[in-house]
Amino acid sequence: MSEDRFFTPREIAALTFVVLALVISVSSYRIGFWMSGGSGGSAMAAQRTLRAGASVCPGLAKDTVGARCPRYTRAVTLSSTDLPAVRAALLAWFDRSGRALPWRVGPEGRRDPYRVWVSEVLLQQTQVSRGRVYFERFLEAFPTVQALADAPIEAVLKAWEGCGYYARARNLHKAAGVLAREGIPASYEGWRALPGVGPYTAAAVASLACGEARAVNDGNVRRVLARLHGERQPTETWVQARADELLDPSRPGAFNEGVMDLGATVCTPKAPKCGECPVWAWCAAFASGDPAAFPAPKVRAAVRDVRAVALLLGDAREAVLERRQGTLLGGLMGLPTEVVADGETERDALTRLATRLGASVTGELGTVTHGMTHRRITLTVYAGVGGPARSPVAEAALSRLDHKALALWERRRASLFAPA
Ligand code: SF4
Repeated sequence: MSEDRFFTPREIAALTFVVLALVISVSSYRIGFWMSGGSGGSAMAAQRTLRAGASVCPGLAKDTVGARCPRYTRAVTLSSTDLPAVRAALLAWFDRSGRALPWRVGPEGRRDPYRVWVSEVLLQQTQVSRGRVYFERFLEAFPTVQALADAPIEAVLKAWEGCGYYARARNLHKAAGVLAREGIPASYEGWRALPGVGPYTAAAVASLACGEARAVNDGNVRRVLARLHGERQPTETWVQARADELLDPSRPGAFNEGVMDLGATVCTPKAPKCGECPVWAWCAAFASGDPAAFPAPKVRAAVRDVRAVALLLGDAREAVLERRQGTLLGGLMGLPTEVVADGETERDALTRLATRLGASVTGELGTVTHGMTHRRITLTVYAGVGGPARSPVAEAALSRLDHKALALWERRRASLFAPA
């Protein structure tokens, strides 16, 4: 053998084999990682990877908004054996990241029932950011059940101004009377028996304030569960069944608050932040690559257009006010109004209104609109003279539509006195 050769043919073959084996094993590991959805094929290991800051999916960094991951497309099915791990992950996240909200007063599972009840009723149709302001205002006016029960209904409606759906305020007042007489219920059934308290509110108060194992089922819960299970058309019954089986019976209050917070801050409707989600490793919607597609949008009932005319007799401080009847914000005080009936002109409705009030129309102030769940109201506001006695506007509970109508008068006055 010549002494200037470094390797024998046998040695070169062995070296090549080792290098090839190394390349193949590294490639297999990477392929296995993508196929299984995480390192080592385990959901928990994958979750540790994400928590550590690594991106499991290219383009899905921890701060990714509206995650879409076309390469991460394994099928995921949440089985009953996964439930303890999902609960633990959600609760650990809630312990770290749960929101501090003004109605979360008291220890977990023993929150102040009055605050929880008022907040749940108030937030049914209101976003949390706006609901916080209304909640503080309502609690300042009625800090206890007794204070609410003792207040006249007009004062309750006034404090409810802007929250909409005034039937809820009337029911709160009625139920406060029952609570003041009979005491605070300690169970779901007791809360459910109160006026205006449905299954959602009863489950929320029973779990958050009484520690009872009742799963809540609202829009946030529906969305999170539909995505976790990859269900596009979740029915009410389906959501409640999935919520019941996932609920942690040892910490029902914290679990319900955790799902609410996850839906409100991470698993949001249009842009879920899957990179921050504690349960992504079990989530079928995330695994599909298009989490925002779950659940499918609900088919909304058609919005009906309603045209009406109003007459402002007086000004923004003192005006003729009426208690409205029927479907046009019925039950609230407001400017005298007439709906423009089918086949009628706006002029016909205005004449009918002025005749009923014994007033004369002096001019048009403008038009305002107001959107409700199933109706869009277009109200043309006129100024007038004569008619019944005026009353103080500030003392009446008015709808947002009436505040907009009165703002027209303020604008007209400001333009009349504006410097030329
Ligand atoms: S539940 Fe699923 S879709 Fe929602 S944020 Fe978590 S991973 Fe994304």
